[in-house]
Formats: sequence, structure tokens, C-alpha cells
Amino acid sequence: MAEEIKFKTETKRLLDLMINSIYTNKDIFLRELISNASDAIDKHHYLTLTDQSVAPQDYQIMVVADKNDKTITITDNGIGFTYEELKENLGTIAKSGSKEFVEKLDEKNKDSVDIIGQFGVGFYSAFIVGSEVEVLTKSPKSDKAYVFRSQGLDRYTIDECGKETVGTTIIIHLKDDTDDVKYSEYLDEWKIKELIVKYSDYIRYPIKTYVTSWEETDEKDDKGNPKQVEVKKLETVNSMVPLWKKSKADITDEELNGFYKDKFYDYQDPMMSMHFNVEGLVSYNALLFIPKRSPMNLYSEEFERGLQLYTKGVFILDKCKDLIPDYMRFVRGLVDTSDLSLNISREMLQDDRTLKKIASNVEKKILSELEKTLKNDRAKYEAFFDEYGISIKYGCYEDYGANKDKLKDLLLFKTLKEDKYITLSEYVAQMPEGQKDIYFACGKDRATVINLPYLDQLKKKGYDALICVDGVDEFLFNVLRDYNEHQFKSVNTGDLDLLDEEENKKIDEIKEEKKDLLQALKDSLKDDVVDVVLSKRLTDNAVCLSSKNNVSIEMEKILAAQDKYGAKAEKVLEINPNHEVFKAVEAAYDKNPDDIKKYATFLFDNALIVEGLPVKNNVEFAQIMCELFVNANK
Ligand code: ADP
Repeated sequence: MAEEIKFKTETKRLLDLMINSIYTNKDIFLRELISNASDAIDKHHYLTLTDQSVAPQDYQIMVVADKNDKTITITDNGIGFTYEELKENLGTIAKSGSKEFVEKLDEKNKDSVDIIGQFGVGFYSAFIVGSEVEVLTKSPKSDKAYVFRSQGLDRYTIDECGKETVGTTIIIHLKDDTDDVKYSEYLDEWKIKELIVKYSDYIRYPIKTYVTSWEETDEKDDKGNPKQVEVKKLETVNSMVPLWKKSKADITDEELNGFYKDKFYDYQDPMMSMHFNVEGLVSYNALLFIPKRSPMNLYSEEFERGLQLYTKGVFILDKCKDLIPDYMRFVRGLVDTSDLSLNISREMLQDDRTLKKIASNVEKKILSELEKTLKNDRAKYEAFFDEYGISIKYGCYEDYGANKDKLKDLLLFKTLKEDKYITLSEYVAQMPEGQKDIYFACGKDRATVINLPYLDQLKKKGYDALICVDGVDEFLFNVLRDYNEHQFKSVNTGDLDLLDEEENKKIDEIKEEKKDLLQALKDSLKDDVVDVVLSKRLTDNAVCLSSKNNVSIEMEKILAAQDKYGAKAEKVLEINPNHEVFKAVEAAYDKNPDDIKKYATFLFDNALIVEGLPVKNNVEFAQIMCELFVNANK
């Protein structure tokens, strides 16, 4: 008795979509099923390498049409399904890409089913052309064989069956022809052959189908000519050269994009594709892609980076992380090498010297590709940087800056002067005479940063500043230290040394004069700041904070959010000596020196607010404000 099971909800939705969509490219169903068959064979082959009890097969994929039954049958001798796998893989949408896709479609794109045409939907695409689909399968891990049947409605059945060989046979019962669509077209030999050659030529296993030809016999016809008979022969139709083994010139963009979307479950073309055929100390072929959109979890711990690894065309590992540095975790793709042994274990791979050489070569190649793009196609590079710039920054500062020299010229920043990206070398080239350092200003976003009070002095001098809005930026500059001998200087943290001698002297005089007041403020704030000084960079604002150690105020915020180190900035309260508030504090101090704690708190809390930090004690702050206001109006 067959067991009847319901599809999971999102699977059902995908099925509805497959069945009801006026699918523009119905052809892709065959590509999808052949690609699954090829993966299944890869898995079987891999199993034979690790499990002596499983014998390798004469691997092949067969596609056969039956005009009487109106069926297309796709057979592979791959890994097959166990009962649980059938339920898990065909009863549920297995891959996250499809799930995400269905969810998105549900939200807003209900009508634009066209985009499915670009999207690998896997097994379910059988329902684009089929009214019923049967999957007969046997796994080497199971004694029993099973048949899965579904009409793409809300349920499917699983039953035991008598299949004896390991592998999977998918029988598609074609839908009836309509005025618009001739499903029966797929029963024609030439059509099947055309589809295999068009979409699955590079599949590494023979894809066989029946091809009819006329052959002469020994018999003669009336005219004495040899009689001809129709002969059906099973032929291999694909060239079996994997895409990455072909020469660049022989691959069209369409093929490359299709391959990427199919293999890496994306519905958009990649942002960049790279194809390397390297021969030398190490030899390998690589097909690498940078997706248009970075995955949501790119920077989370569960994200698994890595490239697919093949040796001599045989699939070894899905996510080989040793092939790609952490900061390039966004790169997808595969590497095929003949320099590794076929049955190398995953554990051994980690320390393998050949693999390390390939990895470092791959890294170099990608970097040079990025440099080329930056030079030759600025818009494309900027789009890349918008999406992955943080990764490049991260690469500069991870491992204590070990990679910074190869990455620093790939950095882009917006600046104080223009809301446009520039490189560090462009910044340096544009520095006015007299400017020695490279200034950077950090904050929440560009609009906030360009209004920071500390920038007044820079603006006056006509100097530009890099605007830093990413959390990693300050850490980055700490590691970079300088660029072509120009030091990086934070506008937020300390004295920028921008005043001329005269102005400096004046401030030093006031400092001497107001020594007592400054000391009294410092004593009052001894738990909060390491110093109270007269500012050399404020023009309009009364107060601000800077930091004495390597932890800036911005960093402190980031670190606090991560709750990791809890490292604190050594804060310095800067007071603008030319500001009315300073004069008012002076006067108040002369009158009521005992209230110094109040004035100090008032100044410090003001500075905290300017920095976007919480004041120490809300109630106390409110009370002081009220008191000062009342006194001022008495
Ligand atoms: P995917 O894109 O992951 O292949 P599918 O819906 O096409 O998604 O298939 C779901 C899963 O079913 C696959 O990941 C694979 O594990 C399994 N599968 C599909 N086709 C076959 C097959 N011919 N032989 C063995 N397993 C298969």
C-alpha cells in the first residue's frame, strides 16, 4: 500500500508556480534533471573512493522519449535516494535559494513569473511539462527500492518497488498539448538532442539518447538498390568537456551565467566571472564568480566559505575553505586540478602543500582581476565595492595587516568634499601643498560626519578628509598606519596640528592663565576623563571629546555593541577657549568655586551628547540644566 504524504507549504507553492506559470522557457526542465543526475553520479563516485563495499559503475545518464505513452524518462546510475531522502529532498524544498525565491515571489513579484526562467528550480521543474512524475530509485545504502509519485497537487505517495539497480529513473508523463504549448514536441528525438547539446553539453558523464538513422541492408528493392531500414541507436550526445576545461574563447557569456545560476542557486547573473587556466608549478582550472548580491549571512559565523574542489574532473569537496582566504569569502566557484590525488582525505587536504599553492595563486589572480576592473571599469568596481568593500577592509586588517599591502589600493572612500568614491592614491594626488597627513573622520553616515565640529579647521584650510561610516574603518587605519609615507590622522581623536604659531601661542597663554580652573575641572571629572584641555580644533562648538589611547570614541561604541573587549577610550574633554560657554564657566567659577562639580558635569555631558553617547546620569543632567537656566534668568 502506498503511503500518502502532504507536501510542505512552500514546496506546494513552488509546485503551483511550476504548474500554472506561463513559463517562458519550458526547455529548462531537462537541464535541471540532467544536472541533478550528474550530481548524483558525482556522489556515487565519491562514495566508491571512501567505501570499499561500493563498486564504481559505468556511469551514464539516459534520456528516452516514448511517443505512445507520452513519457520522457531520465535514468542515472548515481547515488539514488533512501526512503528518508525521498521524503526530505523531494517532499520539501531542499535548497535555501528556492525557498527564498518563493518567499520573495509571495511578497511582491506575484505576476512577474518570468524571472523563474533564470532560476534553477531543480527537480520540481519536471512539473513544468509533466502532469505526473514518477521517481523510481535505489540507494546503495538501502536494500529496498522506492517509487515516489506525484501529480504536483498537494500530496505525493511513496511505495516500495522492484528496481534492482542502484540509481534513479524519473518518468515524466507529459501534459496534453494546448493551443499555446505543444508538450508533445519534447517527444521528438531532435528536440531532446538539441536541448542536451544546448544546455548540458559540458556534463562530464555521457548523456545518451536514441537517435534514428537509415541504414542499408543486404536486401534489394525493386530497382535493385539496397533496401534501407530505420535503425534506432543509443548515442552519446554531449561532448563531456566540463565548462571550465574549455578555452575562454569557446564559452559564451550566456553559458557561463547559466552555469553559475544553476550550480550556485542564484537567480541573477553574477557581478563578475573569472576563468583561469593555469599551468606551471601548479596546474589548475578555475571558474570563479562574484554574486551580484552578497548573502545576508556573509559575515555571520554560520556562513561557510569555500570553493568546490575537483581533481581530474572528479568532484571531491563542496566547500573547500582552504582554497580561498577568509576576506574573499564572497567568491563562489570551483577549482579543478590534476595535481592532487583522487582519494585524498578531507583531513589531509588541510595541510596539503599543493592546495596551499593553488590557494595563493587563486588569491593573486582574483586580486589582479579586481585591480584591472578598478582601472578599466570604474563603475563596475564601485558597484563591487558597495557590495563587498567591507570584506576588502576586513582583509587589510585581519592577521595584523599581513595582507594590507596587496589590498590598500583596492580601497575606496567617499570624502568631505564630494559624495564620490576615491582611492587613497587619488586622495594623495589631490592634497593641496602643505598637507602632509591623510585625514579621516568617522561617524554614523556621511551627512552626520561632514557636519562634525572638528572638521572646521580642515575646511578652512581646504583639506579633504576621508569619510568613514563602517565600523571597521578606524581599526583599518590603525593597522594601515600610513599610505606612501603619509600618516593617517583621525579628525575625531586628537590635535590635528592645524593652527599656526600665532594661534597656538594664544591658546597656550590662556591655558597658563586658567590653569586653576582646568585643574579643578579635571579633578571633578577624574572618574570620567584623563584630561581637560583647551581645544585647538573647535570653532563653533563649546566642547568635544577626544581620546588619548588607541581606542577612539567611535571604536568604544562599536566595541560596546559587540560586548567583546569592553575596551574604553581614554577620554579627554576639550573646551573651546573662544566660546561664550567657557567664559561663562570662568565667571561662575570665580563667583562660586564650590559648584565646580556642577559646571564640570554640565560640560562633560554636553560633550557626550555631541558624540552621540548617553549622558552619565539623566536626572542629574536635567536638574543642572534647569538650575542654570533659572539662575541665568533671575
Ligand atoms: P537541488 O537544486 O538541490 O538539486 P532539487 O529539488 O533538484 O534541488 O533536488 C533536491 C535534492 O534531491 C538534491 O539536492 C539531491 O540531494 C536529491 N536529488 C535530486 N535528483 C536526484 C537524483 N537524480 N539522484 C539522487 N538524488 C537526487
